[in-house]
Amino acid sequence: MIKLDTQSFTFGLDSIHKNSRMELQEDCYDTLEIQQHIHQLWQKESQTLAARSYWIDAQKKDYALPHLASVVDYAFTNIPFYHEYYKSSGYEVGAIRSLADFESIPVLNKSILRNIQTKDFLPRKLAKDTSGMFWSSTSGSSGVALPILSDLDAVSFNSLTYYRMFQRLAGEEFSPDRWIYNIHHIRSWISSMAGDHPTFTLNDIASVEEFVQHMERLRPVILNLLPSYLPLLEPYAQRITNLRLKAIITNSEASSRHEREYFSSLYNAPVLDEYSSEEVGIIALECPYRHYHPEFDFAHVELNDFSTTADSTLATVYCTDFMCKTMPFIRYDHGDIVSVAGNDLSQCQCGQHGRTIERVEGRKDDCLKTLDGHYVPTAIVTNTLDSCFNANPNVSSFRLIQCATITDFKFIYTGASADLVVPAVSAFVTQLQNLLKMNIDVKIDRVDALPDTPSYKRKKIISEALATA
Ligand SMILES: [Zn+2]
Repeated sequence: MIKLDTQSFTFGLDSIHKNSRMELQEDCYDTLEIQQHIHQLWQKESQTLAARSYWIDAQKKDYALPHLASVVDYAFTNIPFYHEYYKSSGYEVGAIRSLADFESIPVLNKSILRNIQTKDFLPRKLAKDTSGMFWSSTSGSSGVALPILSDLDAVSFNSLTYYRMFQRLAGEEFSPDRWIYNIHHIRSWISSMAGDHPTFTLNDIASVEEFVQHMERLRPVILNLLPSYLPLLEPYAQRITNLRLKAIITNSEASSRHEREYFSSLYNAPVLDEYSSEEVGIIALECPYRHYHPEFDFAHVELNDFSTTADSTLATVYCTDFMCKTMPFIRYDHGDIVSVAGNDLSQCQCGQHGRTIERVEGRKDDCLKTLDGHYVPTAIVTNTLDSCFNANPNVSSFRLIQCATITDFKFIYTGASADLVVPAVSAFVTQLQNLLKMNIDVKIDRVDALPDTPSYKRKKIISEALATA
């Protein structure tokens, strides 16, 4: 038996051929042998995996605890960084007997990671050329480019989580002969399970016409893509509808629920968001009822509330990938904040239990802060800014800065003289005061060009106020 070359299914379409030649980081484990291994696991476990999705909260916690205790002990015993880090907080082997114990160990974040040498983040006894170890790297888009070493279990379970997601969304139609179509520079799973459930990966859409023709030849059951491709396909809505996709999954970039609902009806297939990271894989998946349900059986997701108002509760997200024994991320804070809803006893209309993520709000650092310690996600403020200034003929580009004093803001812009801009800024200030629920001062600053600071690239809002939580 030879490995199915899924990338060869280009049907003579030139732009598809050209954009399917890139090497993917998953290729290092995408061998026939590993495909067969994952295929066997899938045949053995797929029903158990499907059933687990509907566990109640207590079952999930009972399941997670021994895995969490074991990965922390493993890391403490074998990985120099974790040993020193946990020792300094008084950790001893066997100390985790409850989830509360687990939640008392120190958190890992990007600024800590930046100062760790890779060798200290790997098990001491790991031979460099051990087989069944796979290097990949995060893109660094989130601030730290990090080499990640995975083992066979980690890559196998990661693939299984994706196949479970496809099955949950496609139901009966997720049959072994049906294609999965992936538009990305990574794939995150194997190209097929020894020929079953093949995936075609396109790096970019160069010709929408050829892309649609290619989909018409492959007839995929699921399409994965960045949300920014969705508007490109709009002129082809009828042909995409005819494909009868069971789901379109967006990832990697922020998209609004409004956008996803719009494209769901346009393409007659649910457009659902996958919240994932390169470090831990899938964190949560949006269900057809528009709630994100955190994964729990290969990674443990903690939602930590830090700001509750009448309208929403914001939480930070800590993830632990307890299946990985080479380079486990334990209580890892990506720096994201999310809006959360429900409680341990909640049940969604889709049948899944527990708290849900309502929106992925972006980076905590980006939020505006209020005097009473609340955070206001930039997404809401950006919407307001855009509605006031995007179509304003006197403003060509703009940026809002919250000063360290919290109530002082600067509106920096390029365009016509300030007196022409004052009325629009006043209207914006009224709306912003309603969002922040406090009085603010906004200084208008007309400049020749917006300051070009690399880390502030393309940001419309910057908060210089210090985080209090
Ligand atoms: Zn649901």
